[in-house]
Amino acid sequence: MEVTQAAHPLPAREPEWVRRVYADPAALGDIADAVGGGPFHVLHPDQFTVNLAGFVDAMVTAGVDGKVYFGKKANKAACWPRACAGANAGVDVASAPELVHALANGVRGEDLVVTGPAKTDDLLWLAARHRGLIAVDALDELDRLVAIADAADPVRILLRVLPASNPHSRFGFDDAELALALDRCVEHRARITMEGFSFHLTGYAVAPRAWQASDVIDRCLAARARGLAATSVSIGGGFAVDYVGETAWQEFLRDYRDDWFHTGKKFSGFYPYHADPAGGEMLSAILASSVASQHADLAAKFAQTETRLLIEPGRAMLDGCGFTVFPVLGYKQREEYGFITASGLSLSLSEQWFASEYLPDPFLWPQRGTGVPTNACVGGSSCLESDMLSWRKIRFDRVPRRGDLLIYPNTAGYQMDSNESEFHQLELPPKIVVTTASDRIGWRWESARRGGM
Ligand SMILES: *Cc1c(COP(=O)(O)O)cnc(C)c1O
Repeated sequence: MEVTQAAHPLPAREPEWVRRVYADPAALGDIADAVGGGPFHVLHPDQFTVNLAGFVDAMVTAGVDGKVYFGKKANKAACWPRACAGANAGVDVASAPELVHALANGVRGEDLVVTGPAKTDDLLWLAARHRGLIAVDALDELDRLVAIADAADPVRILLRVLPASNPHSRFGFDDAELALALDRCVEHRARITMEGFSFHLTGYAVAPRAWQASDVIDRCLAARARGLAATSVSIGGGFAVDYVGETAWQEFLRDYRDDWFHTGKKFSGFYPYHADPAGGEMLSAILASSVASQHADLAAKFAQTETRLLIEPGRAMLDGCGFTVFPVLGYKQREEYGFITASGLSLSLSEQWFASEYLPDPFLWPQRGTGVPTNACVGGSSCLESDMLSWRKIRFDRVPRRGDLLIYPNTAGYQMDSNESEFHQLELPPKIVVTTASDRIGWRWESARRGGM
């Protein structure tokens, strides 16, 4: 009876380094002691470098010249821009503090792409000073850039297009605006270098990205005919992440019931936690798509038109790059299921604040042998009923106890720190960078202020 109450399990796929950290008898407990009872995030930049290489390999294999810009908003840690600086990748920033943080961690201005709507004059000026590539989103922004630019040092821009698959987006130029923007680029070409076009699509589908990229390459060719550089196309981010196995995900969706969740809570939808293709393989699939033109596929169209491919993956660069640990403060058994109270807040699990739920299964560490299986939800240590890390009734293989560590897997992409605050005057969870290069698990504090931010 009790066991049927629990939701179907959704165990996370996890890389080797994570399994090594879990298996180490001391590391996680030592870190928890050093942190002093609060929650913490564990990061592993080497995995980020592996993910980055996956995207680069996809371009090289397809014979396409291009560059990867990490979508910085997905995680605030300094180790990611540092890893980008070490691997000749760029960073996608959307605010002046993000720009400064990237620079302070070794990323050169020319390796920045600046996105975001209605950018402040300060951001435009800083980006221009550092020779970043600015994805212009509106005509007045273009005018403000013309005013900032001088002919000795033209400003590098992309024009962001309103995507055909999302015609109601508030981002990008529609066709009429684009015609005006192109006229201005031609008029001011001494001060503005129009390097091409960009777009960023919601959703994780391959086909609309391939189609939109093909369309925008045609726009590049037309712009070149008018004397503009138009060398590059940014297809944005939105590369999928494969969090859980296909069978588990399909059975979860097939058998889904509201009463799997505390209070029968209803959700507006879930992230597609199983995806195939994901990450670099999704880029390969986009490039292998056939597009209606004389080219064999999209990769051939990029190559034969000598167009550079720019991508801005955020979440997918962070796949398998970190997890979050919440010490268990208490466990309360009710008639049908229990409540774990975690040290920490659901603000460290951002999905909980988008009318949705982070679904890859959390689990208890250490795994102290077998016990009585228990179904439990997970609440945060605040006074809010709504502060739930998991509304879902999760099956644990033993009764949780105070002092256990509760681990949420694969949280580096958007979960960790986009919504964190010092609610209840609690400190923000520290970030701990682990290394697994030697037999011993090494770890260090990732200073929140590293690089002056
Ligand atoms: C958020 C964003 C990205 C990154 O998106 P992911 O889904 O994390 O890959 C890239 N480009 C732009 C313009 C964005 O707004």
